[in-house]
Amino acid sequence: MNLPNLPPAETIALFLDFDGTLVEIAEHPDAVKLDIATKTALAILASRLGNAVAIITGREIEVIDRMIAPLQLPVAGIHGLQRRNSSDDFPSARNTTADFVDILKARLAPLVEREAGLILEVKACSVALHYRARPELQQICLEACEDAIADLTDIELKRGKMVLEAKPDTANKGTAILDYMSEPPFLGRTPWFAGDDVTDEDAFDVVNRLGGVSIKVGPGETVATHSAESTAGFLNWLIEGADNLRLEGKV
Ligand SMILES: [Mg+2]
Repeated sequence: MNLPNLPPAETIALFLDFDGTLVEIAEHPDAVKLDIATKTALAILASRLGNAVAIITGREIEVIDRMIAPLQLPVAGIHGLQRRNSSDDFPSARNTTADFVDILKARLAPLVEREAGLILEVKACSVALHYRARPELQQICLEACEDAIADLTDIELKRGKMVLEAKPDTANKGTAILDYMSEPPFLGRTPWFAGDDVTDEDAFDVVNRLGGVSIKVGPGETVATHSAESTAGFLNWLIEGADNLRLEGKV
């Protein structure tokens, strides 16, 4: 664990992955729970950083809104394919049509019906195949997904923790951060980003290029410049950092 102290709040923009970073990963995606201490820390950070705090996730924006309520933050969902900025606008530059979603749903349905424990998550513009309950099926799931997207243009397969996700390659977590950094209140600040999974590497790369601080949560190969040993370790650091800002008396 080599996490630096947070610098003065007005100098940084904070970007956070959700699953595995702000919450422990659960057996089922719906079973995760945001701890009250983490939620409080997010509220303090958003206040002290002039609202330059955003969630960058593979989930849909509305799911994050529900999980962090009553707090509302800018959220980039589905790995940057959806993005709501701090003005509550949905810039459409990287938005995409989702005709391929129905095609992939139909192609992967037989496998999911045949094998108990597999979950097919159909989002607005991606399809995710979760195999956490059947890790021995990883190779079969991978081949099925690769076959399913083989004749589709501009669709890429992202490998996450016990999940494979087919999505358009027009946006990723890195492009989401670039887009936020071009707008207030993020503009002119130094980006910090924390994430735990392979899909966070695009964001680490962008943050490194912008001279920011990239934090890999948990084990695994990474281009991030800093690391936290676990989700719990990262959250301790985050909560303590927020508390120090609060004790400065400006919240
Ligand atoms: Mg994650």
